[in-house]
Amino acid sequence: MRETCVRAQSLGLQVVAFTDHADHTAIAGGRHLDLAGYRESLARCRRAFPRLAIWSGAELGEPHRFPVETAELLAQGDFDLVLGSVHAIEVGGRLEDCSMGPGGQGSDPVAWMRLYWGETLRLLESAGSFQVLAHLEYPKRYWPSGGQPYRAADYREEIQTVLEQAARCELILEINSSAGLEPERGLCPGPEVVRWWRAAGGRAVSVGSDAHRPGAVGRGLDRALEAAAWAGFTSGQILGGTLAARPLSLDGPPW
Ligand SMILES: [Zn+2]
Repeated sequence: MRETCVRAQSLGLQVVAFTDHADHTAIAGGRHLDLAGYRESLARCRRAFPRLAIWSGAELGEPHRFPVETAELLAQGDFDLVLGSVHAIEVGGRLEDCSMGPGGQGSDPVAWMRLYWGETLRLLESAGSFQVLAHLEYPKRYWPSGGQPYRAADYREEIQTVLEQAARCELILEINSSAGLEPERGLCPGPEVVRWWRAAGGRAVSVGSDAHRPGAVGRGLDRALEAAAWAGFTSGQILGGTLAARPLSLDGPPW
């Protein structure tokens, strides 16, 4: 975390959020958040980097499937920023990790994608537990290289339903730059979907590099900011952009 702060500061970022994973699926190996250790590290970073806004946070994987664990964590966490995400989908009655999926042997990426949209809609049933809808279109990161490329337009109806519901829940849509992966695969969601989000009544976006390691902090953020601007979002509506630097509360709508 310290190295991440060093990197963030050297890039001139004003905000860094440590949204550690809180996953409870067996396939994720149960990435439970060590809250005590997390808090201690966070406090140390805040003391060492007083000029950097360092937000606490968590990324809830499939919180709709784990309401008890989610409620427990949020009761203890006192987080500035909570993300909700889908990493796993149910295929033939079994939870499968999307990262193993659509590019895998024998799997049908289109079918996986449709299952993903269904799972995302179910995720939104637990929208009260998080503020930011994370990395929409996640499976496209793992889309097979040959054959028909991923196109958001092929899933327009499903995406529209998800976006409208997310807007009703007053969520923020994350534009995740996947630590600098090539934009077609890594910008989750892509610019087109960000534009649909605004048309569906979405009021805000956030940008994040989903770095997972210090060297990847900030990678692709320029692309994410470009997509936000192209869709018509102004700096005051972009959380994590250089001008937006305030923690949120779960008690009410973010804006
Ligand atoms: Zn994630």
